[in-house]
Amino acid sequence: MQVPSHVEYERATSVDHALMLLSRPDTRVLAGGHSLIPMMKLRLAQPGVLVDINGLKELAFIKRDGGNLRIGALARHADLLDSALAGELFPIFHDAERVVADPIVRLWGTIGGSLCQADPSEDLSAVFAAARATAVIRGQRGDRTVPVRDFHLGPYETVIGPGELLAEVRVPVHPGAGSAYEKVARRVGDWSIAAAGAVLRLDRRTIKEAGLGLTAVGAEHFVAAEAEEFLHGRAASEESFGAAGAIAAEHCQPVADQRGPEDYKRHLVAELTTRALRRAAARANLEA
Ligand SMILES: Cc1cc2nc3c(=O)[nH]c(=O)nc-3n(C[C@H](O)[C@H](O)[C@H](O)COP(=O)(O)OP(=O)(O)OC[C@H]3O[C@@H](n4cnc5c(N)ncnc54)[C@H](O)[C@@H]3O)c2cc1C
Repeated sequence: MQVPSHVEYERATSVDHALMLLSRPDTRVLAGGHSLIPMMKLRLAQPGVLVDINGLKELAFIKRDGGNLRIGALARHADLLDSALAGELFPIFHDAERVVADPIVRLWGTIGGSLCQADPSEDLSAVFAAARATAVIRGQRGDRTVPVRDFHLGPYETVIGPGELLAEVRVPVHPGAGSAYEKVARRVGDWSIAAAGAVLRLDRRTIKEAGLGLTAVGAEHFVAAEAEEFLHGRAASEESFGAAGAIAAEHCQPVADQRGPEDYKRHLVAELTTRALRRAAARANLEA
């Protein structure tokens, strides 16, 4: 099936207008359309009304506001990759965006669409989980905030309710923290076979806090929680990083598919987690 079923189209002219349109039943936000339109063509999604938010420039920002990096839901992957501010505060974003899809998808695909699609292989879901970011969800009755680690209810399912949209993501900035993302895919521009992101806060050579995100390997909420716990208070050393990688590999739940068998994916998780931690620590030292 390559033709979507009948659908109505509305172009929102403001966030309030979008929320008013979304209060009607059977509506769906259209952002970059790079996931939704293919799903509609396959009739895996059959919304009655599309609410196009591409005109809402007020949701297309990347800026620092006090202790947070704020990323609007309509910022594109390419905007994040181009943002010197984001790259300076969180190199993990640039690491990840360099390997998300291809330039065409990156020009259209949005940060909000990435999180809301809730694809188990989405790179940014793991990045935002590692960075302990917060999602700002807007509805007609105002904003509510949800930790990104609680945002996904399962594959293709989020906490966003009827009549709501994701407005922005806030990432807490910790001066001196280091971060990195490591991904293995079958070919350039492809989805991950496995990937790992790390955000490290160090006190000299001791780990004050570790954020570890995993994608495509069935980690609950994209987080390697047991490995994070293991790292807390330990030395930022090769030994700790290797052990954390092994713990992350043990606790994730990859499934065998066309991208590889389960044991290969666990092997990648161990190796990529170790590498991400190593690079994050090196960057933390440089920035501290
Ligand atoms: C060929 C190809 C390769 C790709 N490779 C990768 C990859 O390697 N790694 C990766 O991480 N991603 C990859 N992607 C996904 C891509 O990067 C985008 O993240 C994805 O298309 C979603 O963004 P979008 O703006 O296009 O969302 P859309 O397709 O417009 O929307 C996706 C879903 O999110 C909802 N939505 C969108 N914005 C909001 C909002 N603000 N509030 C509430 N709901 C919203 C929509 O209603 C829909 O359900 C790939 C996509 C393609 C087409």
